Amino acid sequence: MRIARFTTGDDPAYGLVDGAGEKIAEITGDPLYTKIELTGQVYAVSDVRLLAPVIPRSKVVGVGRNYADHARELGNEVPAEPLLFLIPNTAVIGPGDPVVMPPQSQDVHYEGELAVVIGRVCKDVLPEDVAKVVFGYTVANDVTARDLQRSDGQWARAKGFDTFCPLGPWIETDLDVADLRLTTTLDEEVVQDGTTADMVHGVATLVAHVSAAFTLLPGDVILTGTPAGVGPVRPGQRVEVRIEGIGSLSNPFVRH
Ligand code: ZN
Repeated sequence: MRIARFTTGDDPAYGLVDGAGEKIAEITGDPLYTKIELTGQVYAVSDVRLLAPVIPRSKVVGVGRNYADHARELGNEVPAEPLLFLIPNTAVIGPGDPVVMPPQSQDVHYEGELAVVIGRVCKDVLPEDVAKVVFGYTVANDVTARDLQRSDGQWARAKGFDTFCPLGPWIETDLDVADLRLTTTLDEEVVQDGTTADMVHGVATLVAHVSAAFTLLPGDVILTGTPAGVGPVRPGQRVEVRIEGIGSLSNPFVRH
């Protein structure tokens, strides 16, 4: 299933998106917590505004340097264990929402990533049990103020600004993520073209590792790292991240 969150101008609702990504069938509640029941209302996707498909209740967990080529391009070693950081849920925005580049940074980068959405409360999950706690997958842009990441040492500010965590366009619940093509386009130019097969630590290892540290709650999101090709965005440019089997997430970047 593809589960989207959307609005037609009223309160946000959830819906099931068809395979072509053209129609959305409204459902009654939040599918993380309630059984999926159709309301009977169907919209054209083009007639609704898609929202972030999930607002993480407690946290977004990021993973640093999980693709060897990306670690190398920034002059870093691949860490022996997954390198974790936290992003506040206030950074999350949806498809089409503008990323607001803050005055504190002059070097804001895109990072296209596969995002894992957790479906149930869990702790100390074994790698072989990870599929049971994953609700689905979506696309993320782990926007990073690269200059502040370097100068701060800690990554909380560099990756945690409001609007720095676009998620969408929807959650795909049935997906084998072992080898999915991930491309990022900056305006018309393809800048990242990788595959999830090149992750240093795969999804099962990452979820197990994260849950060994933190209790995960339904709606928590884990970002799985970015392939090579990161780079700066200028105000007025648009970044689109596309993952095979899910769809594409596109956001304009602006400076106020
Ligand atoms: Zn990242």
